[in-house]
Amino acid sequence: MFKRYSIVFVVISIFVFSIYVIYSYFIDVTVRNIFLIAEKNIKNEINNKLKDTLAISITLSKNPNIKSILLGNEKYLKNISDLPKIYKNYTNYKNIWIALIDKNEKILFRSWSEQKGDSVKNYFQNVEKIFKNPKFFSIIFTNRYTLAFHSLSPVFDEDRFLGYVAIISHFNSIIKNLEKLNLKALVVADKKYKNMIIKPYTNTFLNDYYVANFNIDKNFINIVKEIGIEKIIKNHEYIRYKDYFFNKYRIKDAGWIVVAISLEDIYKSFYKNRIFLYLVFLFLLITALITVLIYIYTKDKQKALENQMKYYYNTLNSLQDIVIVTDGEKIKFANKRFFEYFNKYKNLDEFLKEHGCICDFFMNEKGFLAPIIDGKRWTKYIIEKNNQTSKAKITYNDRIYIFLVKATKLSKNEYSIIFSDITEDYKKHIRLKEIAQKDELTNLYNRRTFNIFFKNSFKKAKEKNLNLWLAILDIDHFKHINDVYGHLSGDKVLKEIANIIKNSIRDEDEVFRIGGEEFAIILKNISYGGVKRVLERVRKRVKSQKFSFMDEHITISIGATKLKQKDREEKLFKRADMLLYEAKSSGRDRVVID
Ligand code: GH3
Ligand code: MG
Ligand code: MG
Repeated sequence: MFKRYSIVFVVISIFVFSIYVIYSYFIDVTVRNIFLIAEKNIKNEINNKLKDTLAISITLSKNPNIKSILLGNEKYLKNISDLPKIYKNYTNYKNIWIALIDKNEKILFRSWSEQKGDSVKNYFQNVEKIFKNPKFFSIIFTNRYTLAFHSLSPVFDEDRFLGYVAIISHFNSIIKNLEKLNLKALVVADKKYKNMIIKPYTNTFLNDYYVANFNIDKNFINIVKEIGIEKIIKNHEYIRYKDYFFNKYRIKDAGWIVVAISLEDIYKSFYKNRIFLYLVFLFLLITALITVLIYIYTKDKQKALENQMKYYYNTLNSLQDIVIVTDGEKIKFANKRFFEYFNKYKNLDEFLKEHGCICDFFMNEKGFLAPIIDGKRWTKYIIEKNNQTSKAKITYNDRIYIFLVKATKLSKNEYSIIFSDITEDYKKHIRLKEIAQKDELTNLYNRRTFNIFFKNSFKKAKEKNLNLWLAILDIDHFKHINDVYGHLSGDKVLKEIANIIKNSIRDEDEVFRIGGEEFAIILKNISYGGVKRVLERVRKRVKSQKFSFMDEHITISIGATKLKQKDREEKLFKRADMLLYEAKSSGRDRVVID
């Protein structure tokens, strides 16, 4: 039983484990895939943005209005005020900011602020180089406000350097693109810029990293805070935390884009890519495979079991003994031998139609099993006394069998019971016992048996204060019979007298031949009068018996006495013998009782 459960347990474990492995594999593949797409996307977006914003600034550098403004004609400013709006409408970018810086490194115009006339140094570091040697360039860096794209183009009037037109753009469009892939993103500036941010736009620092996003999901920020941004950045692989997977991408040498996808969105992508279908298919495949394996395994087991059962039944059927299996009430199995004894029945069903129990055939006799014995069912009785052999006397078809019966517990409610036929041995045993116990001539119990019986009766009577009588009988002048009629005639007389005694005493009295022509009678539970009556009857019947070979009548003398409380065994016997002697010496043919 335990073994079967453990197999089921192992199979289910393997099943669950393999499903888990497949599921994890799909999750892993999907996450990697999404992050790969994100990486490409980010790279493209950054490169495009660097180029696009530079292209815009190049275009603007050729704009006559801007030239005029940089030449000092502030009135042209109104002509360019709607430019950010136009660019916004015709590009993917959320906002495009324009700034104009004159050759004296002063900011003449900001599209996002009224502020002007301040030095670009407040805003841009190491600017000397680009003013000494004007050039087109596009970079990502952190100014005092935020991390952003900066594309600058020099403006010339003929060969005269007038200043720069700057296009500033943020990461919003990139984040938006990632959102389309269900990715949440954080744009963080390198730690080195920590102190440069003076007037932060977003006012959000994450463990010393400035976050350049605008609309930040607070919950998401908190989750990132829990893991620690360093952990995400320093990890080579993507990492999983709660129901999110995190990865990071380098933004040139300025910062990082941290992206995350939720498990829920992975499931959505599963659904979209029909991965669930594959999973279900795989699930079914594994189920089918395991089922087949279990089927093969159990089939093998079953076959082995069937073989084992076959050997088992063959063995049982080849036994000389009857074997039955029972639940204690009803027979569940009987071997072939059973039906050789109970030959009216061909099989168990036929037997069970007429008999519930083999005990229907038990002969109720002392020393043998009965259907109910000692107040218990016979099956229960033999199981409890398993170490002692029980015997059953069974009668069937006018024959009597003696069986040795042994029971073995097979399971909680099953017992095998073996009946070994000992009929022949038992008969021999009874015969030998008789030979040992009885006298051949008279067929009465012999002296040896008397000794044992007398000893036991004496002991029991003494213990339980029971009434016990002992009578000793002796044939009168028996020597004379022998002498006159011969020894064989003497034997006949002995036999006849034995019969007379046996037939004259009560059933509960026992007679023994204790010597040549001497007999003993043990009487229990009897009064003085009763003893006298019995013994007188014996005496009279012997005396009145006629023998064909002689005219003489034979008499006997009897001495009888009752057990007294202080008697010892020998004393009781001796007293009876003395009384017999008294009967003899006082004329024979009499009973002397004391
Ligand atoms: P009493 O009245 O005093 O008892 O005289 P008795 O002759 O019976 O006494 P005794 O003891 O002298 O003789 C017993 C005889 O019984 C002696 C013996 O030959 C004879 N006897 C003993 N056993 C057997 C037997 O098995 N068969 C025969 N035929 N005679 C036996
Ligand atoms: Mg004698
Ligand atoms: Mg005698």
